[in-house]
Amino acid sequence: MMETAEIAARLAAVRAEIAASAAAAGRQAEEIELVAVSKTHPAAAIEAAIAAGQRVFGENRVQEAQQKFPALKAEHDGLRLHLIGPLQTNKVRAAMELFDVIQTVDRPRLAEAIAAERERRGTCPELYVQVNTGEEPQKAGVLPRDADGLIALCRDRLELPVRGLMCIPPVADEPSPHFALLREIARRNGLDGLSMGMSADFAIAVRLGATVVRVGSAIFGERKLTPAPR
Ligand SMILES: *Cc1c(COP(=O)(O)O)cnc(C)c1O
Repeated sequence: MMETAEIAARLAAVRAEIAASAAAAGRQAEEIELVAVSKTHPAAAIEAAIAAGQRVFGENRVQEAQQKFPALKAEHDGLRLHLIGPLQTNKVRAAMELFDVIQTVDRPRLAEAIAAERERRGTCPELYVQVNTGEEPQKAGVLPRDADGLIALCRDRLELPVRGLMCIPPVADEPSPHFALLREIARRNGLDGLSMGMSADFAIAVRLGATVVRVGSAIFGERKLTPAPR
């Protein structure tokens, strides 16, 4: 794990870059929420980020989050946790117990399972619909041409709290066209939340209207484990 002081310094650098990109685009830095992606990193690294003022974290696996976050949430007021990885329907209940935001709603069956669990619990995390802007067969997310239909199902029929859209551009592509496509799908559906931008491209994403950026390695360092398939 990186030293506490280094995590604090990297966090400050990321925040400064978000502020600079926002200013360059005529936006307020406060319009952009920084999700610190802590997957594969130990609770001690998350504690270091909390000590540096960070309160919003992202994890891509329910099970890993269950191992780290109940204790952290009990210890620190105001922590908010985003699920940014694919969600299986049999983990919906566990995910809704722990996560404040689910960014990866990508198919009707999952939306229906979340709606059923919302009936049972009486509460629901904020939701984002994940769009597979690059139409990559191995990647999660609804295809752009099916996005309007899934958004309508979630929002109008199931009355779920859809805040916006999320995308992960193909690794080899220039990200801007993907961010622009996501923004266009959000605009025509009257949604204003845009979760886009990771360590390599969050500055571009902020210029193109991101309201949520998901930054892992730029804060916590390289991950030793390979990321989960998505
Ligand atoms: C891992 C991950 C991130 C963070 O990636 P970095 O390149 O380390 O910033 C962001 N979004 C999703 C969906 C991820 O799985």
